[in-house]
Amino acid sequence: MATGTQASRSAPPRPAVVVIGAGIIGLTSALCIQAALGDKLDIVIVAREWPHAVAGIETDTSANYASMWAGAHVRPIPVNGDVQLDREAQWLKSTCETFKRQVVEEPWIGVTAVRGREYLEAPPESYVSQTAESFGQETGLPGYRRLAEGELPEGVKLGFEYDTYCVNSPLYCASLLKKFLLCGGRTAVRQLASVAEAFAVCADVRLVVNASGSGFGDPAYFPTRGQTALTNLTGINETITRQNADGTWSFAIPRFFGGGTVIGGTKEPNNWALAPLPSTRDQLLKAAQKLQPGLLSKTVAGDDGARQPLRVIADIVGRRPTRQGGMRVECQDGQQGGGAVVHAYGAGGRGFEISWGVAREVTVLVVQRLGLGSREPRGGGAVENGTARHKSRL
Ligand SMILES: Cc1cc2nc3c(=O)[nH]c(=O)nc-3n(C[C@H](O)[C@H](O)[C@H](O)COP(=O)(O)OP(=O)(O)OC[C@H]3O[C@@H](n4cnc5c(N)ncnc54)[C@H](O)[C@@H]3O)c2cc1C
Repeated sequence: MATGTQASRSAPPRPAVVVIGAGIIGLTSALCIQAALGDKLDIVIVAREWPHAVAGIETDTSANYASMWAGAHVRPIPVNGDVQLDREAQWLKSTCETFKRQVVEEPWIGVTAVRGREYLEAPPESYVSQTAESFGQETGLPGYRRLAEGELPEGVKLGFEYDTYCVNSPLYCASLLKKFLLCGGRTAVRQLASVAEAFAVCADVRLVVNASGSGFGDPAYFPTRGQTALTNLTGINETITRQNADGTWSFAIPRFFGGGTVIGGTKEPNNWALAPLPSTRDQLLKAAQKLQPGLLSKTVAGDDGARQPLRVIADIVGRRPTRQGGMRVECQDGQQGGGAVVHAYGAGGRGFEISWGVAREVTVLVVQRLGLGSREPRGGGAVENGTARHKSRL
């Protein structure tokens, strides 16, 4: 990555699209745009913070760089007639198509197919009325099964399971960045003062994608603090979530590829506190015991085959970039010194599970705005001035 004032590589300059942000939204957007327009334009990612693949080491990665701190699993939310949730459900469905392909074709990338199990102590009607058919239609995920009463832990009124995915978030982001670089993508390490500054990152910037997470001073932005514990648990082969009657959450999300298991977690809107609280850690571990009998003893084994004691590798605090009214995905014309900006920020707690759907919509907006037909992306379905379906199989 370049650290100077020029974007990396000294190839002859071509018109460029600059993507602000190396989080999951910036990386997937950059890859999708690259697949559609990489033969015509340079795609440059500019960001302050970049993926590192090993969680648990001492790091100066900020809590604001949410993608490094996510669990992350796909856990659909019932749409229940809500316009924004409906939009997100379509993004999620599109993302799961990509995850399904990646599990088979790119097993190293950081995605694992697993069963997902959910327990609710006080289930809203939107969960109660779900059926295997409605769940499958809304999410594209197969294997929905309502748990029988005898299978429910104490205090749980509703339980169900389905086929889903877990993402080792730092590893996945690092893998996507590598793919982007291998396909000719350029990078620049920069702290930008504004979206407008991105137009000066290199010569002839035609459009900027704002995937900055928080959106440069958007008053609708607020952080949702998440404290979790990264543990040495390794033998958990499903992702389990419990919604408690008091509004708190408990979950275990395995980070396959040797990443331990994330035990979580809090969801605290507008809480800017950075330091993890030991008392919260204790509560999270205690609550996790109720997820599955013996869960906390499924630790990594030593050379002698004996299970090691439970260890918290890192107390994690991350800020989910949340936005009143939901994620902003739209094109804004002529605002930044005449240039067009496609905004894609404010994914809240769902950035990974909706990422590829958002990236495809961003790409359609970019192609439409630049008035360029795209080349046939892998798997067919070219974007012609944004009017045709964009079905990149990235
Ligand atoms: C504890 C926790 C658990 C989560 N669990 C899940 C889960 O299970 N499933 C799920 O789908 N999601 C989950 N999330 C949410 C997910 O992490 C976020 O939605 C997602 O990471 C947001 O990605 P992003 O690319 O929009 O932003 P970020 O990951 O925050 O990336 C922003 C990028 O923009 C750059 N940037 C910002 N401002 C500037 C600037 N001024 N100049 C230059 N660069 C800048 C940053 O350096 C960074 O590269 C979780 C989040 C947390 C914290």
